[in-house]
Amino acid sequence: MEKPVIYLDHAATTYVKPEVFEAMKPYFIEQYGNASSLYDVGRASRKAVEEARAAIARCIGAAEPGEIYFTGSGTEADNWAIKGAVYAARKKGGKHIITSAIEHPAVMETCKFLKKEGFDVTFLPVDSEGFVNPEDVEKAIRPDTVIVSIMYANNEIGTIQPIKAIGEITRKHGVLFHCDAVQAAGTIPIDVRDLGMDLLSISSHKFYGPKGVGALYIRKGVRLENLIHGGHQERGKRAGTENVAGIVGMAKALELAIANMEQYTDKISKLRDKARDLILSRIPYVRLNGPVENRLPGNLNLSFQFIEGESLLLLLDMKGIKASSGSACSSGSLDPSHVLMAIGLTHEIAHGSLRLSFGEHNTEADVDYLVDALEEIVARLRSMSPLYEDFVKANKQT
Ligand SMILES: *Cc1c(COP(=O)(O)O)cnc(C)c1O
Repeated sequence: MEKPVIYLDHAATTYVKPEVFEAMKPYFIEQYGNASSLYDVGRASRKAVEEARAAIARCIGAAEPGEIYFTGSGTEADNWAIKGAVYAARKKGGKHIITSAIEHPAVMETCKFLKKEGFDVTFLPVDSEGFVNPEDVEKAIRPDTVIVSIMYANNEIGTIQPIKAIGEITRKHGVLFHCDAVQAAGTIPIDVRDLGMDLLSISSHKFYGPKGVGALYIRKGVRLENLIHGGHQERGKRAGTENVAGIVGMAKALELAIANMEQYTDKISKLRDKARDLILSRIPYVRLNGPVENRLPGNLNLSFQFIEGESLLLLLDMKGIKASSGSACSSGSLDPSHVLMAIGLTHEIAHGSLRLSFGEHNTEADVDYLVDALEEIVARLRSMSPLYEDFVKANKQT
């Protein structure tokens, strides 16, 4: 039998849907005009960008298309939201940022950078399932707090935060609320007004759109310092010739995702639940990381005791299964995932972790193949583990 390719890393990135690619195509060869030019091919590009802006505004419940600003990635949107907010507030004494211990590096590293620059940062702890307590947010707010940045849903363990409660608190205290919704967009309905958000980041390649394009929602009236300086694009707030095809693709992808959301999330959560239940019943000494309820529908994160996550990934890859250990951003480094450490795992358990994230092309047969492969690989790796041998011996004695 030919080795199948089973892609289970949709939280890292997705392919571009054919309909999305079709929508993008004209903007490479025929409609290549600069959206800032006044002649006809330029105007066609401008029109496409503005239609995409309006579509994205509708998709996230923004009051006006003008509240959407296109960026080069979700990472850029996160950097801009936080740096832009604190730099703009600095003159008036704004100094303090509140975030969580399990944010994506795009937020985490931005906050660490700002700390070095002299801002104060509170990294709120999370509970054993990765939830931020809204009361902790409220208690952390100070007179010089500028912004609270809490992600909608976690990219490693799938935890969906009590975003609405946090939005009520930030609104009550008059501090900005930024939400990294990169993992949520396309799988969870987003309504920035209902959720009390001032700033929200999304990224196209996480919902079957092209890579290298993101957006930041900036509620009307919120002042941000510019991050990228240069031309007058994006109403003078984000310089750089617009990625017209990318912007068109992102809007198309988000519209498709929202139109199919119920079917899609139903499908991937069923596959995820099946994989989770089979793995936990057939393989011993496995821990589920993250919650059962209030979890991203396609996310599964497991720790296999006595196993190195990297070896597990390698052997899965040899069977055609593409997965991730904890976070793709931290693979290659020996540090265990900051998210898994924050929910209280030991280094050893955190190192044996695997993230599986399901998507639209996955099937029940993929899940069966995955579970068989995992069962075999885990048994093989444990049979070579001195730690496992000691553990088995110790258990026999008692
Ligand atoms: C992927 C991701 C990002 C970064 O988005 P890019 O467009 O890849 O830069 C930020 N936050 C979260 C939660 C993500 O999953």
